[in-house]
This record gives sequence, C-alpha cells and structure tokens, in this order.
Amino acid sequence: MEKVTDFFGSMVFDERVMKATLPEKVYKSLKRTIDRGTPLDISVANSVAAAMKDWAIEKGATHYTHWFQPMTGVTAEKHDSFISPAPDGRVIMEFSGKELVKGEPDASSFPSGGLRATFEARGYTAWDPTSYAFIKDGTLYIPTAFCSYTGEALDKKVPLLRSMEAINKQALRVLKLFGNTKVKSVRTSVGPEQEYFLVDREMWKKRKDLIMTGRTLFGAMPPKGQEMDDHYFGSIKPRVAEYMADLDKELWKLGILAKTKHNEVAPAQHELAPIYDTTNIAADHNQLTMEVMQKVALRHGLVCLLHEKPFAGVNGSGKHNNWSISTDQGENLLSPGETPAENAQFLLFLAAVIQAVDDYQDLLRLSVATAGNDHRLGANEAPPAVISIFLGDELTAVLDAIENDTPYGGTAKEKMKLGVDVLPQFSKDTTDRNRTSPFAFTGNKFEFRMLGSSNSISCANIHLNAAVAEVLKNFADELESASDFNTALHELIKKTIKEHKRIIFNGNGYDDAWIAEAEKRGLMNLKTTADAMPHICDKKNVEMLTSHGIFTEAEIFSRRDIMLENYVKTVNIEAVTMVDMARKEIIPAVAKFAADTASAVSVKKSVSSAACKYETKLVSELSELIDEMDEATTELESAVSGLKDIAEVMPASEFVRDTMLPAMDKLREAADKAETITAEEYYPFPAYDKLLFGV
Ligand code: ADP
Ligand code: MG
Repeated sequence: MEKVTDFFGSMVFDERVMKATLPEKVYKSLKRTIDRGTPLDISVANSVAAAMKDWAIEKGATHYTHWFQPMTGVTAEKHDSFISPAPDGRVIMEFSGKELVKGEPDASSFPSGGLRATFEARGYTAWDPTSYAFIKDGTLYIPTAFCSYTGEALDKKVPLLRSMEAINKQALRVLKLFGNTKVKSVRTSVGPEQEYFLVDREMWKKRKDLIMTGRTLFGAMPPKGQEMDDHYFGSIKPRVAEYMADLDKELWKLGILAKTKHNEVAPAQHELAPIYDTTNIAADHNQLTMEVMQKVALRHGLVCLLHEKPFAGVNGSGKHNNWSISTDQGENLLSPGETPAENAQFLLFLAAVIQAVDDYQDLLRLSVATAGNDHRLGANEAPPAVISIFLGDELTAVLDAIENDTPYGGTAKEKMKLGVDVLPQFSKDTTDRNRTSPFAFTGNKFEFRMLGSSNSISCANIHLNAAVAEVLKNFADELESASDFNTALHELIKKTIKEHKRIIFNGNGYDDAWIAEAEKRGLMNLKTTADAMPHICDKKNVEMLTSHGIFTEAEIFSRRDIMLENYVKTVNIEAVTMVDMARKEIIPAVAKFAADTASAVSVKKSVSSAACKYETKLVSELSELIDEMDEATTELESAVSGLKDIAEVMPASEFVRDTMLPAMDKLREAADKAETITAEEYYPFPAYDKLLFGV
C-alpha cells in the first residue's frame, strides 16, 4: 500500500515543487505575488512556465488548460497541447510565460448578461497565482480568472478575490485600533461540507429526468422512506466504501484535504468534508471535488447526484459553508480568546457579523438562490428561506448583559466591562447543536447552512465577505475618530446589539411559529429565486458592493440577469422533460396496464359470473388518472409555449414561479398517484425504492 503522505499533492505544482524547480530569485518573486499580490514580471512568468511545463511533462501531461469558473456555476476549460513544430519536422514541447499568464478562450458561449457586446465576443483568462496549478487527466490545469476585454468580471473568482481584499483592508484598520500592528494580512477561511447522493448507473440510464435535469421529476415515495435513522453514521455499504476510498485518493493527489466522510440522513445520501482552507482555495477545491466525485462514481458503476433535491419527499442535499476570519499570525478573529482585550476584539468582530447578516439578509439569501435550492429552503429539512443567526444561550446571555448593562450570569457578579472582564469559556457542544439555523455560531466560526449542494461556494462568500467588510469599515470610521477608544468601543457594541438583535434566533428554525415571529421582527422571507434575485439591484446593495470594488454596477445587473436566466432555463428544461416522459412513457404505460386489466375482466367474465369488482374499480381509477395526466400535460405544454413569448427575464422568472412550476406539480401529482396503483412490471423506469436502496 502506498502511503498517503507519499502521494498527497503529487499532482500539484505546490510550494514544495516550486522551491525545488524554480531559481531562488524567481521563487521569491512568485511568493511575493502569491502572498501580497505584487504584479508579476514577465521574465518571472517565463521561468515559472518553463518549470511548470517540465514538471507536468515529467508527470505525463501533454496539454495545458486555463481553468475558470464562468457564471454557469460549473468550471470551464479549453485544452491546448504543449507541442510546437520544430524545423526538422518533429515537435518540441513549449509553454511560455505569456501563455501561462493569459488565455483567450472564445467567450461567446458563456453567459455575460449583456456585458459583452456581440462584436467583442472574446474574453480573456488571467492566471491566479494564489491557487496552485495541478494535473488532471494528462492536462496541466492553471486556475484563472475570466474577464471581458473591457475588464468586467465574467466569472466567480474575480469578485471573490475582490471581496477577500475588501475584508482584509477593513479588518486591518480595526485590528490596528486594538494595537495589533504586527498583522500584515487578514484572510477568510472556509470548510465546505458537501452532501451528495449515489445511485446505480444502470438505473440512472433508464430515467430521462435524472439524465436531463439531475433530479427525478416523477416518483412516489416508497412506504419506508426516511424513517430509518440508523442510516446516519451507520456502517457504510461496501460498494459505497470502495467509492469513498477511491475518491479520497483522487482528491488527496490533487492536494485536497478530504477529511470526513459519512452517510447522511436520507438513504443513498452521503457527505464529504475537507479541512478548511483560504476561501479562494476552498472554492477552487470544492469545484474540483464536485467534478472528481462525479467522475469517480462512473468507475464504480454509480452516478453521483449533486442536485439539491433529487427525490421529492426525501431530504435534499446542501453544503455547509464554515467560515472564519484569521490573521497571518494565526489568530482566529472569531475565537473568543482568553484575555479581556482579546474578548473585546472578538465581540467587535462578532457584532460586525451580526450587523452584516441583518443588513444584508437579502444578499445572503440570493447568493444561494437557484431553481434546485428553492426545493430545499423552507421545506423543513434545510434552514428556512428566512435568515437568522444562532449564537447559543451562553453567548446570547453575554450580549444581553452588555446591551442592558446588567451583570452577566444572573448572580451577584459585576457588570460585564469590555476590555476588563474575561468572557466565560463557551463549550463547543452547546453552541454546535442547533441544526435548523441558517447561520450558526459554532465556537470559533460561523456555519452558513443555506447553500445548495451544487452551488459554487463563491457567491455566498462574495456577499458574506462584502457585507462584513462594509460593517467593519463603518466601525473603523467611528472608532478611529473616537477620543476614548474603550468607551467608544463599549458603546458601539452595545448599540449594534440593540439595533440588530432581531436577527438572533436560538430556537427551532423549522417551526412555523418562527416564520410568523420573523415576519413580526421585520425579517425578509424571500421564498424563491424569482423573489430573491432582483434584490441584488436594490440601491443599498449596489452602493455597498460598488463602494468596496466587489462589482461594478454593470456587473451587478448582469449577474441578476444571468442568475434569473439560469433559473428560467433550468425549470424550462424540467418542464419539457416532464411533458416528454408523460406523453411517451408514463401515460402509455398506465394506459397499457389499464387496457390489459380491462381485457382480463372480459376474459374472466366470459368464463364465469364473477363480478370482477377489484379490476373494474382499478380500471376506472386508472382511466381517471390517465385523463388527469393528459390534461395536466396539455396545460404544461401551453406553459412551455407561453414562456417562449416572454422576452424579458424578470417577467419570465415570475411566469416560471407562478405558472410553470404549479403546472409541473399538478402533472406530477396525477402521475405519482398512477404509479402507486400500476403494476411494477408495466412502469417504464425504476421507482424510488429501487433508486434509493439499490446501491
Ligand atoms: P460539523 O459538526 O458541522 O461536522 P466540524 O467541526 O466537523 O463541524 O467542521 C466542519 C467543517 O468546518 C470542516 O470542514 C472544518 O475543517 C471546518 N472548520 C473548522 N474550523 C474552521 C475555521 N476556523 N474556519 C473555517 N472552517 C473551519
Ligand atoms: Mg456542519
């Protein structure tokens, strides 16, 4: 057996390889670019490119690609080989600094939301030296940013990097006020827990819905769906265990810190969590993880479903975005710390997050809005569409004491004085247990739980970083001009708690009473993508995002359009697929079963005087459902053609929400009823029980 330590990161052009292959001067210059963002000299780029090429060829690579994350949510790549003709008719392998630094994919097939005029279809990719290059399937992958020729971001990496820079800048100002002058940079880190389903590939092939849309569009719940709690942390089935072992190995080779794997709540559902990393790297690694998960599944005769809701009535899949901020000195700013000064600083950062989440509820909500995730949020299995923060009773009590100038703990203790008193130690257990909160404090990090399993984590982190940067900026402005820092700090924290405590909720987020209470508190409840997405263009959001240089105004409007277009297109494909399955597969199958049953009745009646009550009732029930399905299909067909007549994306998204999705539900309801009374051998594709328990 190979040792993990021997092959971990073996396909990555990482620190170790750079040090070994680059001239010292080049290495130092590259390091400066990676750590501090200083511009890279072309001679350095040439030297890095040459070393990368030699290393990659040694590992069997023949091609290179600029790997980027367009607004489609998946990654894109165009492969070029290293070959270059030599005078003697042979080839040499070449790769220049220019090719490393900049690529020019044809951008016309990627969504730009109107940013790229048709006469300027080109975009360019720019190397992101902060994320290591790696080899996959014989190709050297270069992580890159993707921009239009006029400089607008066409991807998710550029704004993510900008948001990290914004929070860095503002957090440094705040730290300076606490006398923290050694710190040179502040970074956000993320550990994304990834949920997924595995189904058998042969069964998958029989379902057009899974093939075309990644989720089942029809399917009645099996009698014993999810009640088997023993599945969670239960022993992992051999075939799944083999898959997971293979997956870990592939991820480790790519330098991805895959750490935890276990079964999830639903049958056939599992989770993989990596060790957290800098947000930018975590985002790249999560994209890669999703890709590798799907690829490795095929080798095991499986298909990995990353859709948020592959099976109606069964728990969907999410992604928990564990998020923290720390300094280059290794201090986690969301960790309470042990001294009064550390505590005061922690409370200020905590207050900043509380205010940021309250002020920008809409941005956080819309950062996770997709057609798929709409099935989860608010369905009592994932957090509701309402954003709130869980802090735990202990921390909430501390904030209460600060807000009201009352003693903490209810005993005769002194009042809590910031900068003087030490906070109690929070036990991680009590802060960690609420699983129904969309945004939970878990001891030294926040866990944003609304992300869908197929979401790129970039959007959520762009908005989270931006919102927190904005509040830190306002805090710094106020504190920098204060004459007495400690008093001003105390008052600022007090005021922030008072004004934003409505966002704190420690109870059960799945409870209907909470939704009513949230409404009373004035919290937003943006139920669908069509409701949420337009808010990105609200004045307050545009002002905030542009003031930190996260997006330009044009980029914001284009993103709204792209995301709404994705929503409309996704649902439209689902609708078309449903019509096709209903017309060509389900209705004929049920009709055949009804006809066979009816002719059995006449045969039976011809030889006996039996009443055939059962069969007769069945045939009439089936006939009714066939008519219902036919009508519902016709209605859905007209919704599909109705959508074609709507040119603008906003009304199209509303039509999808108000007309198309309800029509889909209606057809499904009739079909699922028919499925439960149709003999299995007649049914045209594998049912839920086969899919969920078939691996
Ligand atoms: P859970 O109880 O939700 O499984 P864990 O403590 O196992 O929580 O952590 C889940 C994820 O949080 C892991 O990916 C882990 O690496 C990540 N994580 C832990 N500490 C931090 C941190 N300071 N910042 C960001 N992510 C973190
Ligand atoms: Mg978690």
